[in-house]
Amino acid sequence: MQNPLKNRINLILLTGTIVLSCGPTDLSNIKKISVDLERIKSTDVLLVSDHTLPQHLNLDTAGANGEERIFIDPTLERLREKLLSRGLNAYILNVEDLTVDGEITDEDTFEAAYALYDEVLNVAVMAQATIVAIHYDADLIPAENYGKNAAYASAEEDGEEYGYVGGIQLILDERSTSEATLRLANQIIHQDKILDQLHEVGFRIRPGYDGKVRFQANQTMNISGHSAGGSFLLEIAPQDQAVRLYGTPNNIVRAIDGPLSSLADTINYFRKNLM
Ligand SMILES: [Zn+2]
Repeated sequence: MQNPLKNRINLILLTGTIVLSCGPTDLSNIKKISVDLERIKSTDVLLVSDHTLPQHLNLDTAGANGEERIFIDPTLERLREKLLSRGLNAYILNVEDLTVDGEITDEDTFEAAYALYDEVLNVAVMAQATIVAIHYDADLIPAENYGKNAAYASAEEDGEEYGYVGGIQLILDERSTSEATLRLANQIIHQDKILDQLHEVGFRIRPGYDGKVRFQANQTMNISGHSAGGSFLLEIAPQDQAVRLYGTPNNIVRAIDGPLSSLADTINYFRKNLM
């Protein structure tokens, strides 16, 4: 079947270089990532952090409290170690890694870096990598701060009304669910009970999502969910609740060491049993 996107990616895989269609934008700060692409082609598990760093340009991209990366980064690092120790080739992709100087401070660089980020995700999909996005969720958002989104207007926690009650959840995008992606989600939630294990550390599961996938529109999942190696986005905890319980990102990562080991086992078993 003719698929222009696939052809383009095949070309990328062939040449090992991504050439973005340049308009008037100056892309001098965008990295030539041919070496990284070579690595991604042989990667079993691509770990992605999605958000921008707190000190970088934040166009609603820095996540919970504008500092989600402070929590995501050490979590991904630990998960990567656990995957490596199980013999899996794991690689962390951050959006700022796609710039020459590791800085995202203007809108042109921002746009170009995220465009390249999406291209790298496509390469990982072609390479049948397992693509894992790790996030921390917003905690409790009072109704008056949540605007007029009626879908959440009646969320409740401990008898209080909130606009949003966040928590541990596994997110996929309905537009993009390969057989492997659905099977991996099922294994995480039902077979290996990773959400329950995180809950046992003291974190709240997002109300209503303890036994099922949360489907929502998400750019990373919309691309990576097609992978024959499977893909998922895991919200580890409500970020503020995790801070209340454990204080610092490093302490939080230490607290979830058990669940992270289980998740690494799940991914390892899944990769070893891929058709
Ligand atoms: Zn996030």
